[in-house]
Amino acid sequence: MGKLVIVGTLAFDAIETPFGKTDSILGGAATFIGLAASHFNIDAAAVSVVGGDFPQEYMDLLSSKNIDLSGVEIIKEGKTFFWKGRYHNDMNTRDTLVTELNTLADFDPTVPSEYKNAEFVMLGNLHPLIQASVLDQMSETPKLVILDTMNFWIDNTYDDLLTVIKRVDVLTINDEEARQLTGEYSLVVAARKIHDMGPEYVVIKKGEHGALLFHNKHVFYAPALPLEEIFDPTGAGDTFAGGFAGYLAKTGDISFDNIKNAIIYGSALASFCVERFGTERMIHLERSEVHDRVMQFKQLTQFNIELT
Ligand code: AMP
Repeated sequence: MGKLVIVGTLAFDAIETPFGKTDSILGGAATFIGLAASHFNIDAAAVSVVGGDFPQEYMDLLSSKNIDLSGVEIIKEGKTFFWKGRYHNDMNTRDTLVTELNTLADFDPTVPSEYKNAEFVMLGNLHPLIQASVLDQMSETPKLVILDTMNFWIDNTYDDLLTVIKRVDVLTINDEEARQLTGEYSLVVAARKIHDMGPEYVVIKKGEHGALLFHNKHVFYAPALPLEEIFDPTGAGDTFAGGFAGYLAKTGDISFDNIKNAIIYGSALASFCVERFGTERMIHLERSEVHDRVMQFKQLTQFNIELT
């Protein structure tokens, strides 16, 4: 079992979907990644920053899930990162209405000393220079570095993003962002261009249409589970990434076949995330529910065919 470093935002989110809206609730990439990874009972630490307005109750919640928070800086006089988004009727696309970086704007991350030799690093969505600084602090080359990003950083920090992407093994990104990053409509061509930027594995998330894994000439596809209840897709991408990274850290096996399994675990965990607003569903998720859903994924895609 490998240790996992998780970098990303701890945030307040205000969300509007066709089913309702929330005021500021707990969100952030590191939150969703941590909650998903915690299902694998691994040693995981979050590296992030919050303001004095971030409730102790949220910190306690993350600690109770066995997420080491010694790498979370609290700036008492500062404000926590805030994001507001509105989903379209198809729930697969959204508009960002507000992004307030607040304490994140000047954040200089510190990886806790006992995590500097972690084998797995999940660089969640935030400023690429912060992602790079975390890599710089690792005392040994990690076994696997995974990076996730989004349109905000592609728009605002393109060159820095390309520099850090060069240093990672796996890029997870959604379909629109893959197109934006590469200027290519075809996801196959986009994945090839991303390979050329550095990552050996490219995971393209397609929301309710599942996820694609590209590795050299190999392609693997995991569907998303057809769900009855979809209330809020916020955090599904991060939950996917957390499940993916957590599973690999737990098993320690980074072969292509096992990375396919990690995609299934990531997809299974993400399928829960969307069933309630924010983190609500992930907080109360039982291990047996995850197991049942992984088996549902297996049944969904298994068939015996004979050529006639
Ligand atoms: P996802 O739905 O998986 O793409 O992630 C949504 C989460 O990302 C929300 O909880 C937000 O707090 C967080 N988020 C939104 N915009 C940014 C950004 N520019 N940088 C880092 N995190 C963000």
